[in-house]
Amino acid sequence: MIRTPGDRQDLRARLEWLRLMGVDELPVVASRNPRPQDSCRGEERVATGSAPTAAVQAGLFGGVEEVSRSVASRPARRGRDVDSRVPALTAARAPEAPDAATALRIIRGEIGDCTRCGLCRGRTNIVFGVGNPNARLMFVGEGPGADEDLKGEPFVGRAGQLLTKIIESMGLERGDVYIANVVKCRPPENRTPLPDEIGTCSPFLFQQIKAIRPRVLVCLGTPAVQTILGTRDTITRLRGSFRDLDDIRVMPTFHPAYLLRNPAAKREVWDDMKKVMAELKVDG
Ligand code: URA
Repeated sequence: MIRTPGDRQDLRARLEWLRLMGVDELPVVASRNPRPQDSCRGEERVATGSAPTAAVQAGLFGGVEEVSRSVASRPARRGRDVDSRVPALTAARAPEAPDAATALRIIRGEIGDCTRCGLCRGRTNIVFGVGNPNARLMFVGEGPGADEDLKGEPFVGRAGQLLTKIIESMGLERGDVYIANVVKCRPPENRTPLPDEIGTCSPFLFQQIKAIRPRVLVCLGTPAVQTILGTRDTITRLRGSFRDLDDIRVMPTFHPAYLLRNPAAKREVWDDMKKVMAELKVDG
């Protein structure tokens, strides 16, 4: 039985080991204590109209960088780290609309008072995204924390204040860019969003990206980059170089929450942001 975060980590490690050993399925054992309250609609799962991303299908999210490091140290398995199917971002379509602001309003309306996954039970506000609908630069994080949940706006807590400083150091203002997350409701105790939560929520993020069409998309941390690129690689391996997704340049970098715990890594993030500024032709 899972009682503590340590139990959950052990289970994750054991499942990862089984998966590496080629075990793709486990027998289903009926629970003696079913917990229908885990889902906002009982155990019902509601499709959002888009296929889960490759990373969600792979079922692996390293989560925060400390967890990721152990995953990153395993040898890359050639041809399996980046899925060859069409990335979810390429497949996504923004709603028909005269402009990006209208498209974003339509997407927000489509989300409604969402109960598509269990995260709805603990949320105060849906954190849709904030910023300039015509932004050339977009940031994608993991999921709202306590401050974001209360305010309904992404990146307003300590990590958010650091992100704002990074944006300003780039010679931009927060209002110039667009900021969103992989999931729009706060995961309990700020845990990493689960693959099915990401699979349910991320199609809306992909639609937002398609509506905004930024020139550069910065992925903050492992869940963001895995979701956007459909890869199982971690941020430690991916950060610092652009990947091209359609006409968007994707720059993976460390999450600001990681920088709060590891200030020395700010230097690497700044190196990454200098590449973004060169791409956007802005002076810091
Ligand atoms: N961390 C995130 O990933 N997103 C937020 O909005 C806040 C903290």
